[in-house]
Amino acid sequence: MELASLEAKESALFPTYARHPLTFVRGEGSRLWDDRGNVYLDFMSGLAVCNLGHVPLQVKRSVEEQLGRLWHVSNLFQSPQQEALAKLLADHSCTDLAFFCNSGAEANEAAIKLARRYAQRVQGKERYEIVTFEKSFHGRTLATLTATGQDKVKDGFYPLPEGFAYARYNDIESVEARINERTVAVMLELVQGESGVHPADPVFVRELALLCQERELLLIVDEVQTGMGRTGKLFAYEHYGIEPDIVTLAKGLASGLPVGAMLGKRKLREAFTPGSHASTFGGSPLAMAAGIATLRTMLDERLPERAAAAGRYALRRLAAELQHAPPVKAVRGLGLLLGIELDRPVEPFIRELQRKGLLVLPGGPYVIRFMPNLYVTHDEIDQAVERLADALFHASDK
Ligand SMILES: *Cc1c(COP(=O)(O)O)cnc(C)c1O
Repeated sequence: MELASLEAKESALFPTYARHPLTFVRGEGSRLWDDRGNVYLDFMSGLAVCNLGHVPLQVKRSVEEQLGRLWHVSNLFQSPQQEALAKLLADHSCTDLAFFCNSGAEANEAAIKLARRYAQRVQGKERYEIVTFEKSFHGRTLATLTATGQDKVKDGFYPLPEGFAYARYNDIESVEARINERTVAVMLELVQGESGVHPADPVFVRELALLCQERELLLIVDEVQTGMGRTGKLFAYEHYGIEPDIVTLAKGLASGLPVGAMLGKRKLREAFTPGSHASTFGGSPLAMAAGIATLRTMLDERLPERAAAAGRYALRRLAAELQHAPPVKAVRGLGLLLGIELDRPVEPFIRELQRKGLLVLPGGPYVIRFMPNLYVTHDEIDQAVERLADALFHASDK
């Protein structure tokens, strides 16, 4: 469709997104092509979803094979595909059990429900409150936007569900002050991605894990963005030497097919009974085929290690090339979840970089998020850094 005709006619979509005037028609690895034949280097990976790059071959083959056999039967029947992905996830994480849904918000909803039911049906305690953090992001459903520690996602949606308290990130005393007899869990991201790429402090995370143990609170780690190799480990909690009770996943789990997963320790098994939670589409054979192929590829090709090395290289190059660029305040991150903090809004730079053929994402108003796929080469990183430097050094001309 021509851009002009799109703009002339009012869109039939609700205007929930500030969409860029670009239409992509094809993707392969780190590259995307628009409808005018221009090629772009993709350093946003569809919001940390396409961790294997665009249209990864092994995943494509598995999905095509499943597509020819069976699409959907519902969760009233056995699912060998769900069993297989659940087993793979259990074998490669500190958790034992999985519940499959369709998105990150749904995975976090499942975690919130499981934590409450564990307290109320297994422990017999009237507990329901979950401590989350300022600047966190956990999704857009009513419960998960309430869990989110940012006002912008709540505007106009009151009244919100009860049962959330907000602590300051990387501040253990602030967490202690929010805990009371109703508290059941603490939920956090180990790198706050959406609000600007803020990694958790390792000392804070270890103290938090100990505190949860002492007070018998569940530790829920939202790995919707940080999971699936993004930070240079399969799961970000591995960097911190902790074992969460619940881990939530979505974005990178199935390379672009909609999947969410809530993973939990065996002790939580009895909290959910038949009928206590469900999803019509959750864990469909197609989504599971994509998830299994994605995870197998990651493990077979040791992609988290590759991401760690590429992330170290990218961080070094970004620091070296951008440290004297006038708008740059800081460069930080973990693995291939990197952020470049500016002293001014990033939106004009995001658009300028698009014109230079580089796709990057904001993280809050002042941070450029840099999230290439896990196969990214040094050469692609160099090209991206060069385009960034070009945009940021000429910032004062604008
Ligand atoms: C993206 C994201 C979510 C929400 O995932 P959806 O699939 O959009 O519902 C939740 N938590 C974190 C940390 C995220 O980055």
